[in-house]
Amino acid sequence: MITEIENYSLKKLNTFGMDVTCRRLIGYTSPQDIPKILRMLKPGEKWFHLGGGSNVLFTDNYDGTILLNLGHNFTIYESGNSIYPPGTVFADAGAVLDDVIAAACEKGLWGIENLSGIPGTIGGAAVQNVGAYGQEIGNSIIQLLVYDTVESCQCIIMGEECDYGYRHSMFKEPENEGRYIILSVMLGLSAEPRPLLDYGNLRTVVGNTSPLSPTDMRNAVIETRRGKLPDPAETGSAGSFFKNPVLNADEFDRFTKRVGNNDFPHYALADGTFKIPAAWLIEKAGWKGHNDGNAAVWHKQPLVLVNSTGHATPSEILTLEHKIIDSVKEKFAIELIPEVIHI
Ligand SMILES: Cc1cc2nc3c(=O)[nH]c(=O)nc-3n(C[C@H](O)[C@H](O)[C@H](O)COP(=O)(O)OP(=O)(O)OC[C@H]3O[C@@H](n4cnc5c(N)ncnc54)[C@H](O)[C@@H]3O)c2cc1C
Repeated sequence: MITEIENYSLKKLNTFGMDVTCRRLIGYTSPQDIPKILRMLKPGEKWFHLGGGSNVLFTDNYDGTILLNLGHNFTIYESGNSIYPPGTVFADAGAVLDDVIAAACEKGLWGIENLSGIPGTIGGAAVQNVGAYGQEIGNSIIQLLVYDTVESCQCIIMGEECDYGYRHSMFKEPENEGRYIILSVMLGLSAEPRPLLDYGNLRTVVGNTSPLSPTDMRNAVIETRRGKLPDPAETGSAGSFFKNPVLNADEFDRFTKRVGNNDFPHYALADGTFKIPAAWLIEKAGWKGHNDGNAAVWHKQPLVLVNSTGHATPSEILTLEHKIIDSVKEKFAIELIPEVIHI
């Protein structure tokens, strides 16, 4: 079924709560609707496929068509069947990621429990390769059913073809922008316990719980996240606003000299580069908890910019973003890159 609405408010369709509109919204429930929808677009018309709107910043009213997958169904084959191995999950791309995680945990399946509490759809998660507490969804994706708008056909892309990396997938490559519409996601989870406890303070939160179930892990993750991140139901944000900068050896050396010591958080990566937490840079530049009109830097996690009053405009968020980028650049000679997609 296809639903078409002109001049639609996007306020409830983006977790930042930006009060903007799109010229047209087209919602659909079946993968078979896509060819018809693409024919409904005028030549050269701007369009964007939205998921749960949890990693985007609308910078203005959208002068084009927003596509939305309204299919929320998923099926979990915890014991498998003659075709699918145990732990197989099929989900419409529009299914809420956290609903899938909760149900998989309830069925005793491991593999995505540490992603609990991440907002958005499973389609958006497959594009962004969401990750938290040592898990990334890309590691559990067996295959995706997509519509290829260049070849005008449905096709299957295997998980290993998606080029998953840190918050990266082939779908984020500039040449693939707007090419693939993810229709459904197939995950491969496992009944074999494999808890990942060595991230954040999960081990402490879990305590002596034994035997540990995926739902116990899920609850520990949700509790841990609650202490750090704004609840999207109460405070608008898009999660981590900036990417963590990665420096090569020379840049890292210059950075260390600039800071005056190497007593700062950093992670040496296998390729000889160094990742510096953007949150640390922003905090040291004095932005943690800073209020700028209706926009603010979250007081518990400076990587998160928030719509603190619920009335922030895109330009208020953009102004704060640019002030932070300029100030971190001036203090550390590092240019922060936004992780949030600007539309
Ligand atoms: C409070 C909060 C906490 C967060 N915590 C985390 C975290 O811990 N880890 C993490 O990785 N992220 C986190 N995020 C970011 C965000 O939740 C994820 O990036 C999420 O996967 C985005 O999914 P979405 O459905 O909302 O996609 P959207 O934000 O709507 O879109 C993201 C991208 O996916 C594309 N897309 C969406 N659906 C489809 C589709 N069906 N076909 C083709 N393209 C599609 C869009 O075009 C866009 O390019 C957080 C966000 C918030 C607000």
